[in-house]
Amino acid sequence: MFENLSERLGGVFDRLTKQGALSEDDVKTALREVRVALLEADVSLPVARDFVKAIQDKATGQAVTKSITPGQQVVKIVHDELVHVLTGEGDPGALKIDNAPAPILMVGLQGSGKTTTTGKLAKRLTEKNGKRVLMASLDIYRPAAQQQLAILGTQIGVDTLPIVAGESAVQIAKRAKQQATLGGYDVYMLDTAGRLHIDETLMQEVEDVRNAVNPRETLLVVDGLTGQVAVEVAEEFDAKVGITGVVLTRMDGDGRGGAALSMRAVTGKPIRFVGLGEKMDALDTFEPDRIAGRILG
Ligand code: GDP
Repeated sequence: MFENLSERLGGVFDRLTKQGALSEDDVKTALREVRVALLEADVSLPVARDFVKAIQDKATGQAVTKSITPGQQVVKIVHDELVHVLTGEGDPGALKIDNAPAPILMVGLQGSGKTTTTGKLAKRLTEKNGKRVLMASLDIYRPAAQQQLAILGTQIGVDTLPIVAGESAVQIAKRAKQQATLGGYDVYMLDTAGRLHIDETLMQEVEDVRNAVNPRETLLVVDGLTGQVAVEVAEEFDAKVGITGVVLTRMDGDGRGGAALSMRAVTGKPIRFVGLGEKMDALDTFEPDRIAGRILG
């Protein structure tokens, strides 16, 4: 396993002369360790570099509190800055779903956990927020994906739009809107088709669906273990269709979650939820403090 940042910095500061305040050299030495720790946590290089630069100024000249060691002091400064960057505006779990029926568009690459997350979120909205939710799969390329959502719906007690063969994604989206309106649903969730890679056809289809229903939320589902790739995917989806938030899946894995920091720093989009397993209740609202602790190790 990785050596955690406190241990690293403890070692660094033992070798330095103890002074009343953190000197520029002390801070520089410590920040080298911080940079390595961030890179090991899968934070992208430019983001790690900028982050270290930002805290360099904050740390230099800070008086070392008697009760803690210089190493602990730097860890605290780093932790606070991590939380600062990771925190988006408002409550991450509060989706804009007033004005029924509110459309939520779920986008992302195939295998990112999009369908699973659609189910998890539908369950959460039903049980925690007392909403009536309708789910629809727009994956016209893989009939199995439509079946998968229907099975999930039965499992969690959430309605799904009946499958009609031969419709386009936009036609399904419009039918979902109609059924949600007539059926008195509060929310309808559209699980769009994913591809292994971003391509023009996928993006055009998502754009057409977006224009057809004008979603209140467009949530990008990305695999939190894919680091830099996750950030690139977010940038492309945001440029093309505009996303209102991100769900990072597989955060139950071994990764240190550095993708969260890169995601925030590069896209500026709020991370709303994290997926923590395959089960339907393995979805938490994003907590900057927890991820910061994990990145630091
Ligand atoms: P989609 O192609 O994007 O719709 O992906 P799926 O929803 O079908 O998920 C692909 C696989 O990832 C499935 O086996 C899911 O159970 C699994 N999965 C989804 N989210 C998570 C998560 O947060 N943690 C873990 N460990 N597995 C997940």
